[in-house]
Amino acid sequence: MKFVGAHVSISGGVENAPKNAAAIGAKAFALFTKNQRQWEAKPYAQAQIEAFKSECDRLGFSADHILPHDSYLINLGAPEAESLARSQAAFIDEMKRCEALGLKALNFHPGSHKNMIAQEECIARIASSVNIALDRSRNVCAVIENTAGQGSNLGFRFEQLAAIVDRVEDKTRIGVCLDTCHLFASGYDLRDAAAYAKTMSEFDRIVGFGYLRGMHLNDAKAPLDSRLDRHESIGKGAIGLEAFRLIMNDPRMDDIPLILETIDETIWNEEIALLYSLID
Ligand SMILES: [Zn+2]
Ligand SMILES: [Zn+2]
Repeated sequence: MKFVGAHVSISGGVENAPKNAAAIGAKAFALFTKNQRQWEAKPYAQAQIEAFKSECDRLGFSADHILPHDSYLINLGAPEAESLARSQAAFIDEMKRCEALGLKALNFHPGSHKNMIAQEECIARIASSVNIALDRSRNVCAVIENTAGQGSNLGFRFEQLAAIVDRVEDKTRIGVCLDTCHLFASGYDLRDAAAYAKTMSEFDRIVGFGYLRGMHLNDAKAPLDSRLDRHESIGKGAIGLEAFRLIMNDPRMDDIPLILETIDETIWNEEIALLYSLID
């Protein structure tokens, strides 16, 4: 079974996310654990945690299909010591927030070397940051998202994701989230059955589907291998609808959150319905 949803707003508090997801017909959702543009936030109130959990129960959302996304400020591979320490502390705080909400995973962008340290050193820092965070939290799986490879961001090649996974000590708490726009932007084609099969078998060989914990479903504004992170509505971009039909009919994507981060949130309900209509 497929669990499609979108990255919904937490305006007014995280406890509002489940109803925002239900309102668009979602069976899964993503959310920020706090304002993603700020480093600090006060801990959740107990009442807020209880409201989040009871809303999830009432509306039928399981923790297996909720994939929180960390703050864009965090760089777990930061070259500067101060920025690295700040990022690690913020990431641990977010892991603990997920734990408090009863969630099982936290999606993060690997990190950026900012042309100040070598790629290998940055990968080692990211993995060590994850090891520290796993040590300081419980139950929550750190889920690396593949990137478009814009700027000096790592994680745009499957080999880079595998290198991070390799260095993480607790393999039961490390996973991967594949973003279709980022795949396409970093040169992995998905546009027809042959291209899709090639990309997915490469992912399986280098990383392994056992690590796939979620997907971000986004069409792309920019062409293949553009290294530009520009999302587009499903079927309206350079990837096109066929790739999403292939995903919706691929049993390897069963039972994981499939999350829209497309640009026009006013049509998320239509995009979710469209995606379900693609199932043969
Ligand atoms: Zn994404
Ligand atoms: Zn993106």
